[in-house]
Amino acid sequence: MAPRKLAAGNWKMNGTLASLAEIDQIRATPAECDVLICPPATLIQAVAATGIATGGQDCHANASGAHTGDIAAAQLRDVGASHVILGHSERRTDHAETDPQVAAKAIAAHQAGLVAAICVGETETQRDSGATLDVISAQLAASVPDCTTAANTVIAYEPVWAIGTGRTPTDAQIAEVHALMRDRLSARFADGADITLLYGGSVKPGNAAEIFAIPHVNGALVGGASLKAADFGPIITALS
Ligand code: PGA
Repeated sequence: MAPRKLAAGNWKMNGTLASLAEIDQIRATPAECDVLICPPATLIQAVAATGIATGGQDCHANASGAHTGDIAAAQLRDVGASHVILGHSERRTDHAETDPQVAAKAIAAHQAGLVAAICVGETETQRDSGATLDVISAQLAASVPDCTTAANTVIAYEPVWAIGTGRTPTDAQIAEVHALMRDRLSARFADGADITLLYGGSVKPGNAAEIFAIPHVNGALVGGASLKAADFGPIITALS
């Protein structure tokens, strides 16, 4: 088995019911890859009802209980989600999420039958100090749980300094991190060579094809450019 190709959209805290018109257009794009939309929680049920693969943007590590404002993995599954993004840098920053918490959430996601899309990535300071590969290795070791398989997990490399900034790493920088991730995952998991590896951070129609040509890049986690079919459609086409 080769890694499955995945074009994933992370809508973050954007979108209302009016945005379902974009979903219809995205679904109309011919795709020879998996296509996933992760809308805000308010839209998961409606987006899933269109038939497109749908994911949450976070879940709680517990199955239920007194956690106001949080959502359990099984609840995401209940309304039609198949995936959940975990450990996004905005969650790590805004909510002080740690690697062990991300791993606990991934276990909860797996138990609920969801694919965990686990995010890793270095800050600009870490890159400038030459720590990138150590940071990614440590995040992979501590955020990715032992129950990981190619069927229940995808990993997204998202350099924090490239998210929403319009700046992207060089092809060589992406290649270096993706090769490291493939090595680490292959060494640790029986089917680690088959785990889908995404790049994320300022992916847009103009740079998608170049990024998808980099070894071990099996798709993208796209923020801003996933909100409009006019942008996300060409990215899907570039991956197909
Ligand atoms: P961006 O976000 O494409 O807007 O840079 C990517 C992400 O945060 O997943």
